[in-house]
Amino acid sequence: MLESLNNKVHDEARQGEPYSPQAVGKKEFRKKFYIESYGCQMNFSDSEIVASILNDNGFGATGNYAEADLVLLNTCSIREKAEQTVRNRLHLFRQVKESRPGMLIGVLGCMAERLKGKLLEEEKLVDMVVGPDAYRTLPGLIEEAEGGQKSVNVLLSRDETYADISPVRLDSNGVAAFVSIMRGCNNMCAFCVVPFTRGRERSRDADSIVRECRELFHNGYREVTLLGQNVDSYYWMDEAADQAVTFARLLEKVALIDPMLRVRFSTSHPKDITDEVLETMARYENICKYIHLPVQSGSTRILQLMNRTYTREWYQAKIDRILAVMPDCGLSTDVITGFCTETEEDHRDTLSLMEYARYDMSYMFFYSERPGTLASRRYADDVPEEVKKRRLDEVVKLQNRLSLEKNKEDVGKTFKVLIEGDSKKSAADWRGRNSQNKVVVFPKEGQAFRKGDYVKVKIEDCTGATLIGRVVE
Ligand code: SAM
Ligand code: SF4
Repeated sequence: MLESLNNKVHDEARQGEPYSPQAVGKKEFRKKFYIESYGCQMNFSDSEIVASILNDNGFGATGNYAEADLVLLNTCSIREKAEQTVRNRLHLFRQVKESRPGMLIGVLGCMAERLKGKLLEEEKLVDMVVGPDAYRTLPGLIEEAEGGQKSVNVLLSRDETYADISPVRLDSNGVAAFVSIMRGCNNMCAFCVVPFTRGRERSRDADSIVRECRELFHNGYREVTLLGQNVDSYYWMDEAADQAVTFARLLEKVALIDPMLRVRFSTSHPKDITDEVLETMARYENICKYIHLPVQSGSTRILQLMNRTYTREWYQAKIDRILAVMPDCGLSTDVITGFCTETEEDHRDTLSLMEYARYDMSYMFFYSERPGTLASRRYADDVPEEVKKRRLDEVVKLQNRLSLEKNKEDVGKTFKVLIEGDSKKSAADWRGRNSQNKVVVFPKEGQAFRKGDYVKVKIEDCTGATLIGRVVE
């Protein structure tokens, strides 16, 4: 698979996943909505906020679009392919709507923001277009659309964080949850559409984050992943205490909820991750020793064109520092091949940087020009598609080798593993993760463990994607 490997933050296997609630409580709903989510974890989390708003307004979720009164697609614009997938889905829903004219179709998220009213013209049967900062206005927009009027709200906000809305969990396993800590992005990476579709960066009230994490813990969750496009620039002023809350401080506050609650975060920008964050991670056992540190390219020249604001050497020094503070820290990255003007030498720089960092895992993409971005305005998309794909193939092959090598080094070690559920292959095995975010599979062997328990597992074997072991205590 060339586009990317399976991962937690942008999980290919979850693209288009319909929202299917666990228990919806005793509420009576007058209508049904169906929602599909695409793109990064932020979008999946947003769908949980949308579900909460809709529940409060009389809409209950269904996993079957054919019976829905309202069909929503929460979309992604990061690459052209993501948008194409959504367009194909809209064509399908158009057919359903022909036999059920009362059904409303809405496009939410980044594609709504990027294309705005154009979506109504291009995709004739779309009734609503709602940007990522406008979800509170959904009830009004639905009413307008029910009255036969096409409705659009794509206003971006400088302060919307949905801090007070309790997301209705799109419940995958009841053990690990994602918590949004900020929205938008102020970086202007030349290839990236996010600053245009999700607006200015803003941090969510720290107290509301801690409250949400505490509630999750009390509801049985044992892991939270704090989410933002650039978590290290989290900053919130606690007026009552007259104290600034930095990301390091926030991590600590969440870690202090309970030692049994694991804390992860994503995504870090290499330019912003501080020693204070690394030292906080090292200080608390329950802050997972794993950092996703997107590099994008190993060539300083390309990094400059990408506006990443660091050099190859600076990035290498950051890796050195992380491993000096936490020698056992897991590392992963994002790589783009075939960015504008990329030469074979630049590409080799990427491969050699990957060898230097020895990532446990990578999310790998070939460059896809996005309208409106700095790169699309300034540079020609001049690397032929077959070259982009060949380079991506080389990057993927190298990562597969590194992942296997890194996993082999873990054979013989013992890890504390949080059980997330049955292994995908066999109900006779448990599946969990260690602190470094590696998937660990081990036989149940009649022991009385449950999802959400911590166990010590000794690794006996591995593949490139999984550690295989046995419980030792
Ligand atoms: N904010 C995070 C960061 O800076 O790493 C993640 C942003 S984005 C949702 C996830 C990844 O998509 C990026 O790190 C980048 O590798 C990839 N990406 C973004 N724009 C792209 C483009 N135009 N073509 C190919 N890949 C892209
Ligand atoms: Fe996009 Fe860069 Fe912001 Fe990440 S940090 S969302 S890649 S602009």
